[in-house]
Amino acid sequence: MLSKVLIANRGEIALRVLRACKELNIKTVAIHSKVDSELKHVKLADQAICIGPDSPQQSYLNIPAIISAMEVSGADAVHPGYGFLAENESFAEQVENSGFIFVGPSIKNISTMGNKVTAINAMRESGVPTVPGSNGPLNNNENSIKNAAKRIGYPVIIKAASGGGGRGMKVVTDEESLIDLVKITKTEAKNSFGDDTVYMEKFLQNPRHVEVQVLSDGKGNAIHLGDRDCSLQRRHQKVIEEAPASNIPEESRSKILQSCVDACIDMSYKGAGTFEFLYEDGHFYFIEMNTRVQVEHPVSEMVTGVDIIKEQIKIASGENLSLKQSDISIQGHSIECRINAEDSETFLPSPGKIDSYHPPGGPGIRIDTHIYAGYTVPPNYDSLIAKLIVHDNTREAAMIRMKSALDEMVIGGIKTNLALHEKLITDETFIKKPVSIHYLEAKLKK
Ligand code: ADP
Repeated sequence: MLSKVLIANRGEIALRVLRACKELNIKTVAIHSKVDSELKHVKLADQAICIGPDSPQQSYLNIPAIISAMEVSGADAVHPGYGFLAENESFAEQVENSGFIFVGPSIKNISTMGNKVTAINAMRESGVPTVPGSNGPLNNNENSIKNAAKRIGYPVIIKAASGGGGRGMKVVTDEESLIDLVKITKTEAKNSFGDDTVYMEKFLQNPRHVEVQVLSDGKGNAIHLGDRDCSLQRRHQKVIEEAPASNIPEESRSKILQSCVDACIDMSYKGAGTFEFLYEDGHFYFIEMNTRVQVEHPVSEMVTGVDIIKEQIKIASGENLSLKQSDISIQGHSIECRINAEDSETFLPSPGKIDSYHPPGGPGIRIDTHIYAGYTVPPNYDSLIAKLIVHDNTREAAMIRMKSALDEMVIGGIKTNLALHEKLITDETFIKKPVSIHYLEAKLKK
């Protein structure tokens, strides 16, 4: 087992990793920017090192500073959490070249899955269904781009191969705007991700976002922890997630779950991962794989009882996967609301001092958060401040539990999107059945 893990992240996920390490009897090192010295995990870690100023570039994305912190602290591994350097191939490579363990998949896995074009190709070879598309990057030949769009059928979506975080995508409805939008996406992709490779996919009109959580040890053992529905999105960013995904015929579900497990074995995948799909008219279409733990991992933990972060760490220590597929059963239903420090109507970030904090409690309620009364949310990072997660026997009961938990929760001093969650959890259409990825934005426009 690893003996000391450096946590290369901040906020709720850093605290979540710290808790898993503690339970595994592993020492922890927190790294932080100047403004983050008051973070809860920084106070709780065995060691804390300030690695730079507040800007992410100079702190949480500063690879040489992180590697130096590993050296001086004597950590043997680094857990990257999500975001920041979690899917950065060069970081994983430098960590390993410096003699440390990266808690995550192999560099080869990160590289293949980090580029959506190579990821789609690898999936297709493994027999995972993908979205009809350009089958590779778009070249500069305008006629061949137009022909590809004609073959796929409008509307199409132009996507950056290195894109992430819901950015680097443009929907095209007709040939007239096609070439201009391809050029714009390319320029934006170059500026945001340093890579102007783009590809084309059929833009699905009414899909749900359904994803599959996997664990795999890279030694031929892989399992899935069921699926999640993350269709409630704004600007391609998830707002509410649930597990399992409801209203999916059992035959389609078990087929897609098995194809993800097979793909993990085919590519000797090591660690936790998520296969993301769009689901429309009874069909699944792969869109990308995340080679890290995801924000919404708790809903899968609640319905399976498996601690995904602990499993990640055990796999990184070189252990064989201790769980078999037959050990996993999906119990009840879980929902997660992402609570952000932002205005619930304008969505403008609302950093500042939290002057009061009253979390909800009771059976089946979990809160993953780093905030406390007196904590100041800095303006420099993502606005996610808490995840409210509930679990109950059925989807309906989980919705009721979430409503009651939201009613009870108080975060004072800053604006939050709690009011938006209250609105969504009482939305008749959403309560009745899962909605499509366009539902939330359409509702907000009304
Ligand atoms: P990112 O890596 O930025 O998260 P994804 O490829 O996972 O990008 O897509 C994010 C979201 O964008 C999806 O959940 C879905 O809402 C939307 N999306 C992506 N591809 C398509 C598509 N072909 N048709 C319709 N919507 C799409």
